[in-house]
Amino acid sequence: MRIPCPHCGARDVQEFSYLGDASAARPAADASLDAVAEAVYLRDNPAGPHRELWYHASGCRAWLVVTRDTACHAIHAVETARAAAAARDLTAGAVR
Ligand SMILES: [Zn+2]
Repeated sequence: MRIPCPHCGARDVQEFSYLGDASAARPAADASLDAVAEAVYLRDNPAGPHRELWYHASGCRAWLVVTRDTACHAIHAVETARAAAAARDLTAGAVR
């Protein structure tokens, strides 16, 4: 599988580290222990398009949000984690 890094171009997946679900929400600071344990240890295993965090460790060292189809490994979109977070904040109406 090759991931098209926005900074480096298409690179082999071995240059990247998979870091998990990019759409998972962090529990609130005052969340219960059960809610924190669920957020840390329980994961969905979706078949189909999934937003994932990848780290380009052997390249530009950028954190990326990759939208990948887990059934066929087709990559639909790649953006920097910074751009994804900014878009999410704008959607939520946050002021920067
Ligand atoms: Zn890169």
